[in-house]
Amino acid sequence: MKLTVIGHWGAYPKAGNATSCYLLERDGFRLLVDCGSGALSQLQHYCSLAEIDAVIISHYHHDHIADIGSLQYSRLIDFQLNNTNKALSIYGHPYDQAEFQKLAKPPHVLSFIYNEVHDSKIGPFRITYLETDHKVRCYAMRFEAEGKSIVYTADSSYKEEFHSFAKDADILICETSFYAHQDGKPYGHMNSTEAALIARDAGVKKLILTHLPHFGDPVQLVNEAKSIFNGEVTLAQKGLRFDV
Ligand code: ZN
Repeated sequence: MKLTVIGHWGAYPKAGNATSCYLLERDGFRLLVDCGSGALSQLQHYCSLAEIDAVIISHYHHDHIADIGSLQYSRLIDFQLNNTNKALSIYGHPYDQAEFQKLAKPPHVLSFIYNEVHDSKIGPFRITYLETDHKVRCYAMRFEAEGKSIVYTADSSYKEEFHSFAKDADILICETSFYAHQDGKPYGHMNSTEAALIARDAGVKKLILTHLPHFGDPVQLVNEAKSIFNGEVTLAQKGLRFDV
């Protein structure tokens, strides 16, 4: 699996950046995980929009779905220009029907629900889900292929279930919206200490801190996490790529 960070800011993107969006690739299949504000502009540095096979959405907050509408338009235009004849598949959870219904613009875009009770497969990726603790219904995801695994917490306050959900993952992409001395729980988010505790107890190989705050110096988040977790800790930034 190849992972590329497309966007990593919480709430809104800094100039020239994007909010939550990650590109997963394997065997020529391209899956976008969330599609936040500014994502399409950044994504085109790595592939054409016509090459995206599917998108999966963790929840329907703006900083995770803002560019979905424009992605639908791009597929319509690519259909009309004969750049592709492949419909874009968009996966969302079914617990907000008003938002879910916005995902489909047939025939160039198809929408599917994912069911957290069952494992599911999108392209070459096997995906399991964990409901998070957030302001709205949201799902963390564990992507697996060929014995490798990448876990994405999406948005959540700390919950113990993450420890088993992220067990032995090659990469944990963990939201870190607050510094160690701050309590993210009232906002449905985590701090650097909580991200590091999950990484440590789950025994992950690599921790990527993401969904970063617009205050303070995010390098401090890394130092705080490193005081708890001995493995590799990296601050998410656009264009960061990993092969697992
Ligand atoms: Zn959110």
